[in-house]
Amino acid sequence: MYKGTNASSGIGIGTAVIVEETELVIEKKTVTDTEGEVGRFKGALDKTMKDTEALAADLATRVGEKEAEILQGHLMLLMDPMLIGEIENTIKGEKICSEFAIEMVCTMYANVFAGMDDELMQQRATDMRDIKTRMQRVLLGAETVDIASLPAGSILVAKDLTPSMTAGINPKNVVGIVTELGGKTSHSAILARALEIPAVVAVNDFMNQVKDGDRVILDGDAGCVFVNPDASVEKDYADKREAFLAEKKELEKYIGQPTITKDGVTVELVANIGKPKDVEKVLQYDGEGVGLFRTEFLFMDRNSMPTEDEQFEAYKKVAEALGGKPVIIRTLDIGGDKEIPYMGLEKDENPFLGYRAIRLCLDRKEDIYKPQLRALLRASAFGNIKIMIPLVTCIDEYREAKALIDELKLELDRKGIAYNKDIQVGIMVETAAASLIADIFAKEADFFSIGTNDLTQYTMSVDRGNDKISYLYSTFNPAVLRSIRRIITCAREEGIMVGMCGEAASDPMMIPLLLAFGLNEFSMSASAILYSRKLITSLSTQELQAVADKAMSFTTTKEVEDYMRGFVAGL
Ligand code: PEP
Ligand code: MG
Repeated sequence: MYKGTNASSGIGIGTAVIVEETELVIEKKTVTDTEGEVGRFKGALDKTMKDTEALAADLATRVGEKEAEILQGHLMLLMDPMLIGEIENTIKGEKICSEFAIEMVCTMYANVFAGMDDELMQQRATDMRDIKTRMQRVLLGAETVDIASLPAGSILVAKDLTPSMTAGINPKNVVGIVTELGGKTSHSAILARALEIPAVVAVNDFMNQVKDGDRVILDGDAGCVFVNPDASVEKDYADKREAFLAEKKELEKYIGQPTITKDGVTVELVANIGKPKDVEKVLQYDGEGVGLFRTEFLFMDRNSMPTEDEQFEAYKKVAEALGGKPVIIRTLDIGGDKEIPYMGLEKDENPFLGYRAIRLCLDRKEDIYKPQLRALLRASAFGNIKIMIPLVTCIDEYREAKALIDELKLELDRKGIAYNKDIQVGIMVETAAASLIADIFAKEADFFSIGTNDLTQYTMSVDRGNDKISYLYSTFNPAVLRSIRRIITCAREEGIMVGMCGEAASDPMMIPLLLAFGLNEFSMSASAILYSRKLITSLSTQELQAVADKAMSFTTTKEVEDYMRGFVAGL
């Protein structure tokens, strides 16, 4: 049995599929048999085309025609006689290997496209780079596993999964995820929860303990994994899986019930989403709105930035699907563990303290921020959209974003385009600085949402994905708890709504404290909503004051955790 961190609930029983990402090294090698080399190139071209056709067909049925269009564009490039001719001529003329000829010709074209003013042409540059790498991968035999089309019953095993890889997973076929790296709040773990796929992360040296095709069982609650287990373990976990599914069914009776405490305090129970299609789960689990739409996922899993219109369609779709219920959409939050290769961002020495989120957006107003804000404003005419700014540390950032929104509103007025003139603009409180000046922010921002995933990281100075120091990463640390309480108090003093969209919002040991502090809104993975409703409706905020006072009187994380564990067990 191997131990790791429990990252997504449930029992996974299936077959291991190992996913390894390799870096490509393209060397300039001379060849003598140039005809033979051209044949080699043609073979790779052919295979890349066939793979692309298959992927496009799969994407069209699984996700949508629009998404598949990107791949149709790739096919057109792969069929372009000029491009093919030039690569052939380079192989023959320079007597160099196909990999290098592809590198030279495709990079040259990509640079030409990238230098053009037209947005469409710039997308071509990204497409060109993408087909270049795909052909080179075929030639080097370094093809990646196609995560979207794994066989049914697969357990994904990887060193780490990037968020975009996780987003490509088809939950019908993937029954579990095990990684060597990552933590509970790394984005792949968050996505695994959204997709309701059991997951265990941070299993030390696991890649050396398992091979393709091994039978794997994982327990996403206990955080343990078995490789080729004996019959008694198999039976045990098959039973546990049944019990887990039965409990899930039982919670369905909370669908349609109000979220109100025993002493009559109503709170909002809303969901975190990453893509418009996640709304299905929000409706299925009776979410009362969306408390966090992580828009960076619209930018992942593709080769170029989504256009303003594409974004508008996505935001509008969510707003309409929720029919007037609140939809809080966070503006682009990339950086940290959320990388977007085509944006060409330099690697930061300290990504979590670096050029990311609002810092990057305010620096890239023309090509990134304005199109997104314009799309959000336009979509606000179709539902109850609120805009949320991530990672703010000082009021200037909020003011600058707000001023930009006001400027865009005037632009839309001039063009006669509809939008919600009273659209609310709030902030995520997720840095130590924002917490310390929450009183200042509360006077200007329309609402707060506490991002405990980052607030814990920045308060404790602990990388949220580093397993070696995860013992420090706890929202129950007195420093983090004081910060949370303070943020809620500041918001309530100014009469603005205060929610929480970090993972702590669905932690059964944290919910009683948050109710006692006066939190208005709890935003979580849709699958956690019904259990949280069950818990909240069984509690009284008045009775919880004494519990919160006691919890806040402790001096160590462990004391608080033990106390809250005992409290929840006694309910
Ligand atoms: C957070 O930091 O708590 C949060 C919700 O944002 P993210 O996890 O996307 O950084
Ligand atoms: Mg965050």
